[in-house]
Amino acid sequence: MSRVRVLGALVAIGALSMAVTAAQAPAPGSLSPQALEATKIEKVRDNLYMITGSTPVPREAFSGGNTAVFVTDAGVVIVDTKLAGWGQVILDKIKTVTDKPVTTIINTHTHGDHTGSNSMFAPTVEIIAHENTKANMAKMDAFKGDNAKFLPKRTYQDKLTLGKGRDAIDLYYFGRGHTNGDTWVVFPALRVMHTGDMFAWKDAPTLDRNNGGSGLEYAQTVGKVLDTVKNVDTLIVGHSPLRTIPELREYQQFMNDFVAAVQDAKKAGKSVDDAAASINLSGKYKDYKNDRYKAAVQAIYDELGK
Ligand SMILES: [Zn+2]
Repeated sequence: MSRVRVLGALVAIGALSMAVTAAQAPAPGSLSPQALEATKIEKVRDNLYMITGSTPVPREAFSGGNTAVFVTDAGVVIVDTKLAGWGQVILDKIKTVTDKPVTTIINTHTHGDHTGSNSMFAPTVEIIAHENTKANMAKMDAFKGDNAKFLPKRTYQDKLTLGKGRDAIDLYYFGRGHTNGDTWVVFPALRVMHTGDMFAWKDAPTLDRNNGGSGLEYAQTVGKVLDTVKNVDTLIVGHSPLRTIPELREYQQFMNDFVAAVQDAKKAGKSVDDAAASINLSGKYKDYKNDRYKAAVQAIYDELGK
C-alpha cells in the first residue's frame, strides 16, 4: 500500500486495494479538466454502462475510446481501458454503479487509447483479446519488459463465449479492417454490441496498415457482422455516442462507396491530395464528415500498390 499514490481526493481508500499501483499512476492533476468533465458513466442497460470522453477532437477533452462496463454475477467485465493514466478514473466511475470488482478486461484492438490503462489494473484481472491483437500489443513499448504481464493472456481465433445466460458475452473476429485483430463484443441478453474502432465515427476510418488494417476488406468484414450477429439493437462504438444496426449497415455502404471512389481516383491517376479533395459522398451520407479522407485514401493507395 505504501507505493500507492492517491489521485486527489476523488479516491476512496477502499478502492485502492484492488487496483492502482504507484508505478503507473500519473501525477495528480495530469488529467485535463476538460477530459475529466467529458468522461462520464452512462447507463446503456440496467447492468451495462459506457464510460465516455471518446470524442478525439478537441484532444484536451479526450480520455480514449468508449469503455463498456458489464456488471455480471461474477464481477465486472470492461471493454477497453482508454489512454494511459485513466485506470483510476475508470474504477471510480465503476464504483458509482457497483461494488463488484473488475475481473476481466477485453481489449477490442491494440491502440493505446483502448489498451492504455491495462497496466493500472491488478495483475489478477484476466485480459482477453484476439490473437492478432495480442501480437500487435506485444510490439508496443507500453507492454515491454515488466509490463508484458498486462498483455492478454487469453486469446481466440474466430469466436469465444464467456459466461452464461444473462451474463454471456460473445467475442467475434470477422476479418481485417481498422487493424487485423478487431473484436466485436456482443452482450446477447442485452441486445448490445461494442464495435471497437471498426465503427468509430461517421467519417473514413483509420486504416492501420502497420497493424494489419485493410480498406479493401473493410466493407466485407462489416458485412460478415451484419450477416452473423442478430438480435442486437444498440451499438457502443469506438469514438461516438450510441449507434444502431441500420447505422452500421449505412457505414458498410459508405465504405463500399468510399473504396470504389478511391480506386477510380487512382485509376484516373489522381494524387492522394486530389483524390481526397474530389471524393464527395456528402449527398448520400448526410451527417458524415470528410476530415479523415486523406489518411484513408493514402492507406488504400498503399494497399493497392503500383
Ligand atoms: Zn483504434
